[in-house]
Amino acid sequence: MKVGVIKEDAPGERRVALVPETVPKLMAAGVDVLVEKGAGEAAWYPDTAYAEAGAVIVSGPELYDQADVILTVTRPSPGTVSRLRAGQAVFGLLAPLIHPELAQALAGQGVTAVSLDGLPRTLSRAQPMDALSSQANVAGYKAVLVAAETYGRFFPLLITAAGTARPARLLVLGAGVAGLQAIGTARRLGAVVSGYDVRPATKTEVESVGATFIELTSVGSAAGEGGYARQLTDEERRAQQDELSGHIAKQDIVITTAQVPGRRPPQLVTEDALKAMSPGSVLVDMGASALGGNVAGSEPGQTIVTEGGVTIIGADNLPASVPTAASNAYSRNVSALLLHMVRDGALVIDLDDEIQRGVVITHHNEVVQQATAALLQPTSDGGADVDGTGN
Ligand code: NAD
Repeated sequence: MKVGVIKEDAPGERRVALVPETVPKLMAAGVDVLVEKGAGEAAWYPDTAYAEAGAVIVSGPELYDQADVILTVTRPSPGTVSRLRAGQAVFGLLAPLIHPELAQALAGQGVTAVSLDGLPRTLSRAQPMDALSSQANVAGYKAVLVAAETYGRFFPLLITAAGTARPARLLVLGAGVAGLQAIGTARRLGAVVSGYDVRPATKTEVESVGATFIELTSVGSAAGEGGYARQLTDEERRAQQDELSGHIAKQDIVITTAQVPGRRPPQLVTEDALKAMSPGSVLVDMGASALGGNVAGSEPGQTIVTEGGVTIIGADNLPASVPTAASNAYSRNVSALLLHMVRDGALVIDLDDEIQRGVVITHHNEVVQQATAALLQPTSDGGADVDGTGN
């Protein structure tokens, strides 16, 4: 079996799906590794390092022609999809709940799609394969550095001959993997940090990394299935936004990480809340997406300064800006999943296996993962619920 590592082609993407260190592990399982020329360069992994580890460096056309399994980090572009052929498998963070049309296209081409974001994350044996956590961890760290770089003052309390600087007040909204890492990183830089989440279980986690937990009186628990949050009702959302606004107005920096799987990110910071913030305040919206983000007006990949002097950073792909660490972690995740699915040197699809049932999205020309297939069912008005909004 041949596994091919492609050179990512999404704008600004610097990660690579496999790093040289992982190549011998795959080879020991009877898997040959092909690497597209220059695939690791942007993450500081040169072709020579892959070749020394035992991989074969090939051109793009050779890779698509010869590989049985293609490894990618992000969703393949339409150009990449058109190069895949029937019987090939592709492993990546394919976001099928946000882009079910991609799953449909891959199924139509006879490609087996395996998406790491479908992993049952609470299974302890799946933890080495958890790319959502590894990338969220990198993103949470970098969000704080991005905020610190933009903020016009110090994070820590500084007492100098020229005067005393008060510490920055920083609030993290959403205390999952990214949020907790952001809290820890901001604390290490000396900010006064608070955190908030709709899952009450996060209170002790927020406090254990040294932040104050904000409790809202107007919204109860919104803990959903599998450790995730559920979507709030319109009434709950408005109450949450109103009550949060008072807390947001007192902050110098707000980092938002709130997500609900397969849904558009909840808006936590409204336009009114932004107006109440002081000039020089900074927001880093990790939920920024084409569908809208956690912060009103945020745009993915863009930095906007409001009339009131508040900077909103649409930080939609922070792991790509820490490419070596992010690739290193992802490489371990994807190879652990691949090796879980390889028997006697061949990929074996087994939908009775709990891990595979979550990650295998398409196989034998069908969308087999239930959640994605459900999104592709025609709705009562004849359309498909492709943005997960139910509209
Ligand atoms: P995520 O990226 O899906 O969401 C980030 C956070 O946003 C979550 O904590 C969520 O509760 C919060 N959120 C959603 N809507 C919100 C709203 N309206 N207001 C405020 N906060 C809101 O989350 P994640 O980082 O992927 O983690 C999800 C869960 O999975 C967590 O419970 C995490 O501990 C758990 N997890 C468990 C394991 C494991 O058991 N091995 C591994 C990884 C993650």
